[in-house]
Amino acid sequence: MIVLTSRGGEVGIAAAMETLRAGGTALDAVEAAARLVEADPTNHTVGVSGWPNLLGQAELDASIMDGRTRASGAVGALQGYRHPISLARQVLERLPHVLLVGEGAARFAAEVGAETAELTPEARQGWEAWLALHVPQDVRRVWPPRELAPYAQLTADPEQPRGTVNILAQDGAGHQAVAVSTSGWAWKHPGRLGDSPIIGAGNYCDDRYGAAACTGVGEWTIRCSTARCVVLYQQLGATVEEACRRAARDLLDLPDRRRIAGWVNIVALDRQGRPYGISTGAEPRCYTFWSDGMAAPETRQSEHLVA
Ligand code: ASP
Repeated sequence: MIVLTSRGGEVGIAAAMETLRAGGTALDAVEAAARLVEADPTNHTVGVSGWPNLLGQAELDASIMDGRTRASGAVGALQGYRHPISLARQVLERLPHVLLVGEGAARFAAEVGAETAELTPEARQGWEAWLALHVPQDVRRVWPPRELAPYAQLTADPEQPRGTVNILAQDGAGHQAVAVSTSGWAWKHPGRLGDSPIIGAGNYCDDRYGAAACTGVGEWTIRCSTARCVVLYQQLGATVEEACRRAARDLLDLPDRRRIAGWVNIVALDRQGRPYGISTGAEPRCYTFWSDGMAAPETRQSEHLVA
């Protein structure tokens, strides 16, 4: 039994391992862990405590994928609910669809009795402070202006420029699953979806070959189908290390990559549950890994690939 998380997932890793030890599936484990991250009020990149969009609204994205069948569920730009990951799971289980967004996602959330929640006061204050710093007072007074696009160009998270949580697990029966949840870029344009709800971009899982998920600039990983590529490269014979390196190289090869400042961090498992992490960008990054043979989770350094 194995659990692997990106940064921020530490608050959920014990719940995931307990779920597996109690005989739960990998899907149960990744959902349990992601829910704890979504409920962590100190996390400003996941859940309703995440920095909101340009209009001050929490718009949450999440996806979940089951490696047994590649069944997937996802929600995007969800407003008004605490646990997008559980709603993604309900999409997987109850609907003939993979991805619901916006009002339709909120409608479905109400229908299944999902817990409601609003942007936290702290996240709201962060948004107000950002506006005060970047938007002239006369524009602020009539916020939002007719043209939001110039302000979308300014988006940068005050705490850490990007962030999302990735949880990967392998259960006692050897099945794998991946959960991804995020509030997306701080101060993003309303309606912007990142890679987290896009199966193949921010999340992919196929028991036959392995699993992968991403944090960082979703605009890059959507263009490169990064999570899918990590699994596909393994299907074509690469080790998990080689697969991550090739996928990271695809990102670094985007000729206009520098139009958006940032990085991508990939976390992955191979078929046997061997973990690997790789990141692009200025700072080295870590992931947290726990296999049931280990007394406690271990934080490990991701490979750092620079252009
Ligand atoms: N990948 C997420 C997105 O693009 C955000 C992040 O991980 O920073 O929405």
